[in-house]
Amino acid sequence: SAKPGRTILASSISKTYVDEIKAKVESLKSIRPNGPLLVGFLANNDPAAEMYANWTGKTCESMGFRYELRRVEEKDFLEETIIEANRDKSVDGIMVYFPVFGNAQDQYLQQVVAREKDVEGLNHVYYQNMYHNIRFLDDEQQLKSILPCTPLAVVKIMEYLKTYNNLLPVGNRLYGKRCVVVNRSEIVGRPLAALLANDGAVVYSVDVNNIQKFTRGEGLKFQKHQVEDLGAFSNEALKECCADADVIITGVPSEQYKFPTEFIKEGAVCINFSSSKNFDESVKSKASLYVPSTGKVTISMLLRNMLRLVENRQKLQQL
Ligand code: NAD
Repeated sequence: SAKPGRTILASSISKTYVDEIKAKVESLKSIRPNGPLLVGFLANNDPAAEMYANWTGKTCESMGFRYELRRVEEKDFLEETIIEANRDKSVDGIMVYFPVFGNAQDQYLQQVVAREKDVEGLNHVYYQNMYHNIRFLDDEQQLKSILPCTPLAVVKIMEYLKTYNNLLPVGNRLYGKRCVVVNRSEIVGRPLAALLANDGAVVYSVDVNNIQKFTRGEGLKFQKHQVEDLGAFSNEALKECCADADVIITGVPSEQYKFPTEFIKEGAVCINFSSSKNFDESVKSKASLYVPSTGKVTISMLLRNMLRLVENRQKLQQL
């Protein structure tokens, strides 16, 4: 029988950003005649990182950016190499393919990337602004803060799917929406739950250990989200959170994991950002809109962040 909903591919969503990005690149021709330069640092032998790097390179070139992949054979030299790129005026954006050391040293390296060139939005200042729902870097509100790419990509996907209601004031456009996010990593799941809650949603943030609720309180009385512990993870508890969830977002890094289709409310929106397919085919019998992957939108956000950095730097020179 015909499926009630639709599958929406990340490639269709990312297309809506192509014109905007190309036009901005064109407008920067006077200062960057050959296009802004993004440098990627690869210091591991991860074939997935290599693939992502190639794909970033191709996307960059197709939109008028330059991309340089710099391979660092000796991990211990990576820090110096990043510092050199920080100083190099011809470099507009820097990204590092993690994991490098696979421990806390990676978080240190993340902070070595100059804030002004951090296209992935991983700098502490950007994170803190995001968690505190602060959208600008300066009091004059001229310089927009940068958001981490993958959480931002999920937000943009939800805008495309019209989960964000643009009749509501900016900053409250998810008021009344209930979301479940299965993943609470520092890179994606926790920032994503915070972003959605800051925009007015009630968010159940689920990981292997427990479930937390992120909200701005009754009547959105708080300016930024608050977090409440709901107790240990169990399938029963997950099922309860999903019973009235309008959106279910998954990011479990495992091929074996499948989100229980029977937990999905009929007509819910389902989005998977894991590189593994966290929903099986049966999701299509329940979801109104299903987005099986998000990578292409993430790359668009990376390039958009990079243009914002170039703009911020231009504005700073004029101030
Ligand atoms: P991670 O290992 O740091 O975090 C995994 C999270 O999932 C943890 O919070 C963990 O508790 C939770 N989890 C694992 N199994 C679970 C289960 N059975 N039930 C509930 N929660 C469970 O991984 P990460 O860096 O967040 O990446 C996750 C996935 O997202 C990976 O597949 C990665 O490739 C992908 N990813 C995609 C993008 C993108 O742009 N599409 C960007 C970054 C990461």
